Parts: sequence; C-alpha cells; structure tokens
Amino acid sequence: MTRKTFVKLSSALAGATLLSPLKTLSQKEKLKNWAGNLEYSTSNIFYPKSIKEVQDLVKKTPKLRTLGTRHCFNTIADSQDNLISTRELNKVISLDANARAVTVEAGIKYGELCPYLDEKGFALHNLASLPHISVAGSCATATHGSGVGNGNLATAVIALEFVTADGSIVTLSKEKDGEKFLGAVVGLGALGIVTKLTLSIQPKFMMRQFVYEHLPVSQLKDNFDKIMSAGYSVSLFTDWQTDSINEVWIKSRVDTSNNNPPKEFFGAMIATKNLHPIAELSAENCTEQMGVPGPWYERMPHFKMGFTPSSGKELQAEYFIPRKNAVEAMLAVSRLSKQIGPNLFISEIRTIAADNLWMSPNRNQDSVAIHFTLKQEIPEVSKLLPLIEKELEPFNVRPHWGKLFTISAKQLAGRYEKLADFKKLVASYDPNGKFKNDFLNKVIYSS
Ligand SMILES: Cc1cc2nc3c(=O)[nH]c(=O)nc-3n(C[C@H](O)[C@H](O)[C@H](O)COP(=O)(O)OP(=O)(O)OC[C@H]3O[C@@H](n4cnc5c(N)ncnc54)[C@H](O)[C@@H]3O)c2cc1C
Repeated sequence: MTRKTFVKLSSALAGATLLSPLKTLSQKEKLKNWAGNLEYSTSNIFYPKSIKEVQDLVKKTPKLRTLGTRHCFNTIADSQDNLISTRELNKVISLDANARAVTVEAGIKYGELCPYLDEKGFALHNLASLPHISVAGSCATATHGSGVGNGNLATAVIALEFVTADGSIVTLSKEKDGEKFLGAVVGLGALGIVTKLTLSIQPKFMMRQFVYEHLPVSQLKDNFDKIMSAGYSVSLFTDWQTDSINEVWIKSRVDTSNNNPPKEFFGAMIATKNLHPIAELSAENCTEQMGVPGPWYERMPHFKMGFTPSSGKELQAEYFIPRKNAVEAMLAVSRLSKQIGPNLFISEIRTIAADNLWMSPNRNQDSVAIHFTLKQEIPEVSKLLPLIEKELEPFNVRPHWGKLFTISAKQLAGRYEKLADFKKLVASYDPNGKFKNDFLNKVIYSS
C-alpha cells in the first residue's frame, strides 16, 4: 500500500461510527491488507471499543471474522460478510510484577506494549521482525522471531479471553485448562474474538546487534547450529544467487554475551555500517546495529516502529521445517535459484524452539523458517511457490498461516496431528461456523 492510499484510508476510518458499518468506504475503496495485495471482501467493518460491544456485535451478526493490524498476505482474516477490527481494543489492562505477567487488550501492537513494559522494568522473550503487528493477530498465526531457544510469540501467552459465537465470554489459562488452552492459542481466528491476552514477561534486558556480510554457504554444512546459536536471535539473509549468505544478523543480550565480537565470523566479515536486509535499500528504517546497545524491543525487530518496514509493496511466503534438516532444505531451495531470483527481494532464515501449541507450525519440533520477501508479481509468485513447496515436501514442510502458500488441505492435515481435535474444539465454541471463512474452509475443512 502506498503511503498516500494508507493516509486516505486512515482518515476515512477515523470518522467511523461505533457500531455501524464503515459506510464511508465505497465498494471501490474497500480496505486492503498492509501489503495492498488483497482487498477484503466486505466493507462492513466494525470498530468496537469495549468487550460488551464485541459481545453485542457477535450476537447480532451471523457471519464474521476478526481483523487485527492487517499484516497477513493471504485471506485468513477475510470475510464476505463482516469484519470486526480490534483497532480500538489496544490498552494494557494490568501488570502483575510478582506473577511476571501482563494482560492486554487483543488489538494492542507490540510497538505500543513494549515501551510500556520496558518502562516498568520488563521485557517479552521475543519479537517479530517488525513491531507494527497486533498481539492477538500475531499469536493467532504463530508469528515468530528467531533464536534457537526462543519459542514463537504465541508461546508467551499464559491466558486468553475470547467471545464465542453466542456472545459469551470464555477464559482459558495454561495453568488450569491444559490441552484446551494449547488448542486455543494459535486459533487462526476460528474460535471467536480474542479480547484479552495474558503474556509471560521477564526482567528487561539490553541488546546489541552486529551484522556480518558474505558468509560462505559451505560453512553451513558443519556449523549451522553454531552459527544460529551465536546470539540470542540470529537471522541469515540470502538471495540464493551466490555461494555466500548476504548478511548474518546476530542479536545478543549485553549481559550474557561477548561484547567485542571478532571481525570475522565463519568466513563472513563484520559490517562497517548499518545495513538493510536488502543491501541496496537504505538502513534508515532498520534498528540500530554496529554493536550499539539498546533496549530489547529496539534491537530484536529488524525494523523501527514509526517507519515503513521491509520493502512495502511485496509478498511474503514462509516455510517451517525441522531444524535438523535445515542445511539440506536450504540446499534444496538453492536448486531453484534461477527461478527464485527474478521474483525475490530477499530470503531470511530463522530458528524457532519447539512448542506444544496444537496449530503451531513449530509444534513438537525445533524449527527453521525459510522466508521469502517477494516482488508483488502475483502470477509469477503463484507459479514459484508450488516449486519451492515441492522441494521442501520431503521435510514435511508447514507454511506460515499468515503468508502465501499453495499446500493442500490434505497435505496439511497429515502434518498437524491435532487438527481433528482443533476442529472439535472450534465446533464446541462455534457450532454453526460463524467465524469460518473461505480460507479456513479451503485449508482446514476440505481435507
Ligand atoms: C512487513 C511484515 C513483516 C512480517 N514479519 C513477520 C515476522 O517477523 N515473523 C512472522 O512470523 N510473521 C511476520 N509477518 C506476518 C505477520 O506477523 C502475521 O501475518 C500476523 O498474523 C499479523 O498480525 P495482524 O494483527 O496484522 O493479523 P491480521 O492479518 O489482521 O489477522 C491475522 C489472523 O488473526 C486473526 N485475528 C486477529 N485478531 C484476532 C482476535 N482478536 N481474535 C481472534 N482472531 C484474531 C484474524 O482473524 C486472522 O485470522 C510479517 C508481516 C509483514 C507485513
């Protein structure tokens, strides 16, 4: 989405009446997702300001989906009928320092929550590449950052509250609700409207990041785990075009790491200026590098709050495979370098620790995520993704729920052992499919 369109849409949204659809948007000006590659199918968008309003809306609406910050690239958030945005549900509700827990409204963005936590002396365990995304929308799709010891962002959830299809409120907690809770956290928007989340927090910490350039691919074979464990959070950026990884971003905690890193790292050389993951772009929007210490929330994401992250006009796809297969999988992808090259801005390789959340792509496996930031060339990308997916098939690849993929429902069903239980759990809260949409029907319910 261009800045101009975004501003135009923002001002149209600002005037919306509380419980009435957003009539100011004409059919032509339907709301788009962040990247602008898709237009939501309805202009009936509601902006409730309280949980009571959410309940009233759910009771009187036969079909709906919840909308967070619109950062998904596929139609997971879409509805043909009604969208309920959490834009106005964006407050911190309480912080329990003794229990090390913060309770927030669903629509709060990490970029809003993190400075608050830091000021109170606390931190989250991990963050995605950008802080502009809502907490509930991120957890619903198992959004992740990097770090061999770091679970995805949904693993920080210790309780959640949601409004179910009949308008009633359900609260589930890790402590009391066992498997039901584990089934609900990565909920894909299917169980109802999450209104509150309680997240586990820890004492705040300082971080610094160093970037290395041109890591020989040959080093990955024997040293992949060492490389990815060289910091609290490590990312590799590659365009698959040469025999070296373009950039290695190493984000370390100041309190537990060597603050005088070597100039050379497995054959890669330390960068002498701040870099963007796409080396040709200005690093102005990127978080501070070159070892400058800063708070955890200004180093873990690659992009600063208040700036347009990444490339903007882009598409994204991302695939999870077991970490033990990382090098083999990367070699498989690199066999497609000629096909990928023309459509790619950059790829990123990250690690995610195993978890036990039913619909998490990282369930029961320490994972590697192979991510593609692609040009917004939809026909070309539609042809490319099945090729990549075929190369990754031997590794039981699972796609990112919020990005583009073409893997069939049948294949997915074989890769999510708790899928049948998830469907039962959904049915217990939404027996008539109020929260189902075309995306869920296609990728979850048609297997
Ligand atoms: C530039 C960019 C960078 C990104 N970087 C990363 C990254 O580093 N790591 C990563 O894993 N992903 C990344 N993503 C993907 C992004 O994190 C996910 O798509 C995430 O789901 C976005 O959250 P959202 O609130 O914008 O979700 P939306 O697109 O608004 O919604 C996503 C899903 O969550 C559901 N949902 C939202 N709010 C609620 C609620 N309150 N109750 C129930 N369901 C709800 C929606 O119905 C939908 O199914 C990136 C995306 C972009 C555009």
